[in-house]
Amino acid sequence: MQTCILVSTAAMRFTIDFGATSLVGLRQRNIDPNSIDAVLLTHLHGDHCAGIPFLLLDAVLGSRRERPLTIAGPRSTQRHLNDLQESLFPGSSGMKPAFALNFRELVHDACTTFDSLEVRAIAARHTPQAEPSALKVTSAGKTIAYTGDGEYTDALSEFVHGVDLLIAESYSYDKPIPGHLNYEDIDRLQAKRIVLTHMNAGMLARADTLAQVCAYDGLEIEI
Ligand SMILES: [Zn+2]
Ligand SMILES: [Zn+2]
Repeated sequence: MQTCILVSTAAMRFTIDFGATSLVGLRQRNIDPNSIDAVLLTHLHGDHCAGIPFLLLDAVLGSRRERPLTIAGPRSTQRHLNDLQESLFPGSSGMKPAFALNFRELVHDACTTFDSLEVRAIAARHTPQAEPSALKVTSAGKTIAYTGDGEYTDALSEFVHGVDLLIAESYSYDKPIPGHLNYEDIDRLQAKRIVLTHMNAGMLARADTLAQVCAYDGLEIEI
C-alpha cells in the first residue's frame, strides 16, 4: 500500500503521510481512524496525502468522529486537500465537520510543536510543486525521521543523523532515479535503526536479500 506510517506513543497517535490506500489499510488491521490525533504530511503527491479526503468523509459520515484532528504539512496543504476532496467528492468541500479540524504549516528549518510532538522539517529535493520535506518527530524522548521522497543531500544526512529510527525512501536498487533517494545512497545515512520503504519493483524483488530491514504493509517496530 502507499505511504502511511502510524506512530503510537503513550500520549497520542499520529501518522506520517496518508496515501490514497491508507483508510483501507487501517480498516484491514482493525485500527480505528478516530484514534488518530494528527497526520503529518511530507509533501502533496497523492501516494502521500490522497487518503485524507477519505479519512475526512469517513470521520463525518461513517465513524462519527468527535475528537479533534490536526493535519500538518506544507504551506498549501489546506487548499490542496480541499481541492482534492472536491475533485473526489463533488459538493463535499463545504461540509462542516462536527470535530475540530486544525491545519498547521510545517515550516522548513523550524520546530513546530503541538500536543506532545516536536516536528522539524527541512526541504527535500523532489518535485518542487509538491512542496517536499523530510520530517523528524520527537515525542517522549524518542525521535523518528522520515526522508519522504527526495534525492540524497548532505543536509538530509545531517538532519537524520543519529535518530532512534530512520524510515528512508529506497526507490530504485540499481538505476538511480532523479528526485528520489535510491539504494546506493542508504549507506550515507546514519541512524540507530533504519527501515527502507517506498521501493519500486526492482527494489521489492531484492527486499529479502538485503542487509537492511525493508518495510512491508503491517510491519510493527517498537523503539
Ligand atoms: Zn513524491
Ligand atoms: Zn512517493
